[in-house]
Amino acid sequence: MAAGKTKVRAPKPLVAGNWKMNGLRGAKKEINALAKKLNKLDRLPCDVLICPPTPTLALLVETAKGSKVRIGGQDCHPQVSGAHTGDVSAEMLKDVGAKYVIVGHSERRADHEETNALVAQKAAAGHRAGLISIVCVGETEAERDAGKTLSVITAQLKGSLGDTFDPKNTVIAYEPVWAIGTGRTPTTAEVGQVHTHIRKRLVARYGEQGNGYRVLYGGSVKPANAEELMAAPNVNGALVGGASLTAEDFYGIISAYL
Ligand code: PEP
Repeated sequence: MAAGKTKVRAPKPLVAGNWKMNGLRGAKKEINALAKKLNKLDRLPCDVLICPPTPTLALLVETAKGSKVRIGGQDCHPQVSGAHTGDVSAEMLKDVGAKYVIVGHSERRADHEETNALVAQKAAAGHRAGLISIVCVGETEAERDAGKTLSVITAQLKGSLGDTFDPKNTVIAYEPVWAIGTGRTPTTAEVGQVHTHIRKRLVARYGEQGNGYRVLYGGSVKPANAEELMAAPNVNGALVGGASLTAEDFYGIISAYL
């Protein structure tokens, strides 16, 4: 290693569940069941996170207390407080015990016309509140078919990340839009190609620190395909939708690291 360079260790994987608009208070039984399964392990080689809808977040933080399960939000407003009906600030998430916040999920980019610039502001709001921001990027099927996957990802990373971001406060999630909730996934080689591209962009922007970012794959991850997808180069965990709703399936995905 050249003098003056600090070697960055491979990041600890993160397996994160995005419950989207699913689950009432009774869903705490899934957190309890998951916590129980994780408790039996001597060592957990990955971090585990569930991001429930906002109304159940405080309850599930209490449910998960003392366990290896962390709880996070699915979105936040860039500002601390104010006249923004229906929105939630990063400080509010932090106040009830969230550790992470997802920003720029493709469903929010599509349903709420969120731009890269807004996503960057939301991620920075997460940092301001002391949360780890999970920044999502991913191409649509039309973009992939047009051979634009890597250029789309490059542009999303450029616009959605800020110069003050670092591997401790930010996680990247690569989620091809066409793989979300469809049961379709890219091949392991395709996942590896995009993740390696993301890693190179991170190193180009942040120097050696770029190697410290966790880059998650998301899109139809299931217990049956998790091991293969997680083994692709530069994949440091998963962002999971449907299969995170039950403790059994989610634990099946976590098992890729056990
Ligand atoms: C998601 O929406 O983040 C996701 C990856 O969903 P699913 O696992 O259901 O494809």
